[in-house]
Formats: sequence, C-alpha cells, structure tokens
Amino acid sequence: MIRVIADNTKCIAAGLCVGREPGIFDQAEDDGLVFTLRENVLPEEYEGVAESERICPSGAITVHRD
Ligand code: SF4
Repeated sequence: MIRVIADNTKCIAAGLCVGREPGIFDQAEDDGLVFTLRENVLPEEYEGVAESERICPSGAITVHRD
C-alpha cells in the first residue's frame, strides 16, 4: 500500500504539489496550506506524489510504501 502524508505545519503554500497531483492534494481556501483529499495512493498516482515529495520546497510531503 502507498500512503502520503502532508504536514501542514511545514507547508509554505507554494502549491507545487497541487499542480502536480490535484487528485491527492489541495490547499485550504483561507491560508493556502496543504491537505490531502486521500491518503491512500493508487498505483497510477504514485509518480505524481513521489515527484510532489521531491519538489515540495518545505519538505512537507512524505510518501510511505508498505
Ligand atoms: S508543495 Fe509543499 S509547500 Fe507547496 S503547497 Fe504542497 S506541501 Fe505546501
């Protein structure tokens, strides 16, 4: 199973993750901080969340594979 965690205490609202994988990540309307629409990642979404983890400038995204 692939899971993704987005830590909104680290997020700086840059929005790169949402641009890369909009089915998984979204930003709050008031402060722009990240939240996940779903933590369970489908195999076809894996590349998008892994790239989001790499490109997030604040290290807020972590992908877990068990
Ligand atoms: S890319 Fe990182 S800093 Fe930008 S919105 Fe997503 S979690 Fe927040």
